[in-house]
Amino acid sequence: MKRKDFVKLLTLIPVAGVAMKLSDLEAMAAPLAPSPLMPVIFFGHGSPMNAIEQNEFSLKWQEIAKNIPRPNAILCISAHWETPGTFVTAMDKPQTIHDFGGFPQALFDVQYPAPGSSSLVAETKEVLKPVLVGDDLQWGLDHGCWSVLKHLYPAADVPVVQLSLDYRKNEQYHYDLAKQLFELRKKGFLIVGSGNMVHNLGMLNWGNMNSGYDWAIEANEKFKSFIQTRDHQSLMNYKSLGTAFKNSIPTPEHFWPLLYILALQDKKEEAQFFNDKTMMGSISMTGVMFQS
Ligand code: ZN
Repeated sequence: MKRKDFVKLLTLIPVAGVAMKLSDLEAMAAPLAPSPLMPVIFFGHGSPMNAIEQNEFSLKWQEIAKNIPRPNAILCISAHWETPGTFVTAMDKPQTIHDFGGFPQALFDVQYPAPGSSSLVAETKEVLKPVLVGDDLQWGLDHGCWSVLKHLYPAADVPVVQLSLDYRKNEQYHYDLAKQLFELRKKGFLIVGSGNMVHNLGMLNWGNMNSGYDWAIEANEKFKSFIQTRDHQSLMNYKSLGTAFKNSIPTPEHFWPLLYILALQDKKEEAQFFNDKTMMGSISMTGVMFQS
């Protein structure tokens, strides 16, 4: 049957009692879009040492990459890049930034030479309008980004762009801005948030490597509960959630990347948690993925 005849035939089929418009039918007859809805993932990145260790966390990150479609490029929102305004890394070859101190030389020797992506930069700027997104040519990939991506794509052959966090803004602003990124999920781009749900370096307990304080465990459980029930509003009002959250989020930069990922959840998607663990007293490594 010729396409013209097929379309003509379809016009005779009423749907829910209403005749469909020709344009709708032609859209139905068109081939499916090439890319499925890409997943969105929040990673608890924890210690920079995870970049060079094969441990329970990094092994899970490697496994995730094997079970999702290979992205055209990755947009990474890292806790470690805060700016006045919103910027994207716009260089062809972003440098590997070693933004930490007191770690072994082996960690400073790591290079993650993933290329940038001018197409992802352009698409990001487009979907975030009317917010102005600046081109950054100084930053690069910080450890919030490469310590995780190194395990997902060790060959550094998937282009990466970082999107900065505007430190002047509040939780609602970041959540609403993130919603605008949804279209990127339809174009083969993987959006990654990298931070930690529970993150208090001032209260680290070196004598308790494998668990958290009671308040950290409580907050980790409540984080998951709010995420499961899609109660993002309560999470954004974390300052009114009591001591456990006050201790978990002493400053918001490790929490904000989670909001970007929650804002991008599609209606039918359920939370898939991984690396669900508290450690060193005041850190949780819990990550969450949404996948259609
Ligand atoms: Zn960090």
